[in-house]
Amino acid sequence: MMRRAFSAVRQLNTSLPTVHRRGLFLSSLLIMAVVLWPVARLPVGERVALEHDFGSLSSPAPVFVEDNSPLPNMANLEYVIQRGDTLSGIFGRLNLGQETMAQLLESDLDVLALDTLMPGNRLRFWVDQEAHRLNRLELYFNPARQVVFERVDSEHFTFDEVIHEGQWRERPARTEIHGSFYNAALGAGLSPGDVAQIETLFKNRINFRRLQAGDQLHLVRNEQFVGDEASGSTELVAVEIIQGKKRLSAFLAEDGNYYDEGGNSQTQAFLRYPLAGKPRVSSHFNPKRRHPVTGRIKPHNGTDFPLPIGTPVLAAGDGVVTKVENHQYAGRYVVIEFSSRYRARYLHLSKPLVRVGQRVSRGQAIALSGNTGRSTGPHLHYEFHVNGRPVDPMSAALPMMRLMSDKELRAYRARVDDWRKAIAGSELLR
Ligand SMILES: [Zn+2]
Repeated sequence: MMRRAFSAVRQLNTSLPTVHRRGLFLSSLLIMAVVLWPVARLPVGERVALEHDFGSLSSPAPVFVEDNSPLPNMANLEYVIQRGDTLSGIFGRLNLGQETMAQLLESDLDVLALDTLMPGNRLRFWVDQEAHRLNRLELYFNPARQVVFERVDSEHFTFDEVIHEGQWRERPARTEIHGSFYNAALGAGLSPGDVAQIETLFKNRINFRRLQAGDQLHLVRNEQFVGDEASGSTELVAVEIIQGKKRLSAFLAEDGNYYDEGGNSQTQAFLRYPLAGKPRVSSHFNPKRRHPVTGRIKPHNGTDFPLPIGTPVLAAGDGVVTKVENHQYAGRYVVIEFSSRYRARYLHLSKPLVRVGQRVSRGQAIALSGNTGRSTGPHLHYEFHVNGRPVDPMSAALPMMRLMSDKELRAYRARVDDWRKAIAGSELLR
């Protein structure tokens, strides 16, 4: 097991006078009341799982009770998230107060773990009954990943992410295609996300609609286990599509990129900058950044580009939109997954131009930049994640390419025109 502290305490408005602090706090409550917290949009379910007094982190056997009743007042309890739940609803039923929730959201800003909660994930609360205070909250995503918020004082929580490496097991599969490729792939145990990734990997080589009965899909998928429990994390390491007499391949190499049988890269290149041209950077990626006032570690997980509001923000590669959200601190933000390994996050936007589930291609405008959430001025906060970990988008060793700015593109086209004219004006050798 590897334990990794992502960020320490975050200080809310410590440098402001109390009156302002109070005003800011009230306005943030207002914002929160308007923006129902994200687990919100899911339909309602029937049951709630509860567990008394679990001391350790090993899985307790949950006790089920009817839904929509207030959760009993108890020291420790576990709650399994149901469809239709909102974080504020759960906190309301626990009588924990919106102020506590605001403090958790504040400490979660760097990672936005609360935003990724799904039905079936578990929340584990440690409550001091006398003081009626939440001391600790654990988000149990799966056996390989938990996030723990621990109270340090009356206003702040620390944030800690617990990662279990577990073991990866290879699962080979092979299937004959009858009907749609999609159904054949799902039949071979792949997820819709895997199918999207395969279609992206092969998009310039195969017309998936032209596949015929008897064509085959061969694959190996790596799947993560902690003990005997699957974590849900997977990675395609080999994909071959046999189309008639043709065999088309993509294999994952050590460098994290896909290559065909001949060693030709099949992985898309990424844009280094999620913007046209070479924009100015106002704040660099820095996992060890210290808060100037408190001196506590407060990582900066992305790169900041100062931009006029309304600047088009671009998809760094071909991928699928997995999140379009509005967060009290992160503002309007968009997450794009390029593969099971790579994803990017774009914060403080003024206007998303895409919706969840939409396919996007490299260079496509996915949003307009803004100044939403807690932001010191109009800018884009841009994160690039590899295997769920933020990396420096400006220096990560990735297959990268830069998109030309309009100005560069005009100059380039002018040169191309000049070359063409020069060629056309030259003597035709026979
Ligand atoms: Zn930033």
